Amino acid sequence: MNSIVEVNNLTKNFYSKEGEIEVLSNISFSLDQGEILSLLGPSGSGKSTILNILTNLLKPTSGQISINGTIGYMFQKDHLLEWRSIMDNITIGIEIMHKKNDKKSMERIERLLKTYGLWDFRNMYPNELSGGMRQRVALIRTLSVDPDILLLDEPFSALDYQTRLMVNDDVYKIIKNENKSVILVTHDISEAIAMGDTVAVLSKRPSTIKKTFDIDLGLKDDRTPFKCRKVPSFQTYFDLLWKELDNNEI
Ligand code: ADP
Ligand code: MG
Repeated sequence: MNSIVEVNNLTKNFYSKEGEIEVLSNISFSLDQGEILSLLGPSGSGKSTILNILTNLLKPTSGQISINGTIGYMFQKDHLLEWRSIMDNITIGIEIMHKKNDKKSMERIERLLKTYGLWDFRNMYPNELSGGMRQRVALIRTLSVDPDILLLDEPFSALDYQTRLMVNDDVYKIIKNENKSVILVTHDISEAIAMGDTVAVLSKRPSTIKKTFDIDLGLKDDRTPFKCRKVPSFQTYFDLLWKELDNNEI
């Protein structure tokens, strides 16, 4: 398979008054076309830093990065603008790109809203929606400009547990249906397995990729995060990943 993102020997140091901190020491991974890669690591291990480097918000200290497509970035908070309707939140990307009068872009947005159950909500305001629905809006907004690669930075962590399970399924179905390549950052082991085709485990700072696991739970086209959680081998992966994470916590 072709990789759409490749990262080799990435390092990042931050400099402050207190001195230098080495955040990423040697990070290498690749993302294949159409796959979901979970980047699993403890808090402070540099996960957001990796995404910020991929989107050019930060410069790496050293290393090579190759990206063969356009990127959409979704944050932990939904960052919806409360004073804009759902429709106007979703069209913000094409507005910034001066494409609001472009028929094709608007048709695409209409299709996304209709396909993913947001059409009837288009004239409402963010505060009228549940947390789960808000995350769906944030995802559709990210998809509105049709990026090839999605970077999702802990997009579920602000949700309560049951909502999170539902939104896991929701987001998974949408990104597979739209055939996107995804890097999902999370510190949640179950989520990393349930969502990922591959899970790369980060050590704590200065971080490296400790190990990469291909997740094969024997589910095929009917795979959903919820079904994954019910397969007996899910627990086996959980234990393996727990050990990897645990080893570097002490
Ligand atoms: P994670 O997303 O895995 O929780 P981050 O990438 O946010 O981790 O941060 C990794 C480390 O880098 C943290 O110790 C954080 O304080 C530090 N850090 C992040 N951004 C900056 C910055 N702009 N300047 C200095 N230190 C930073
Ligand atoms: Mg983070």
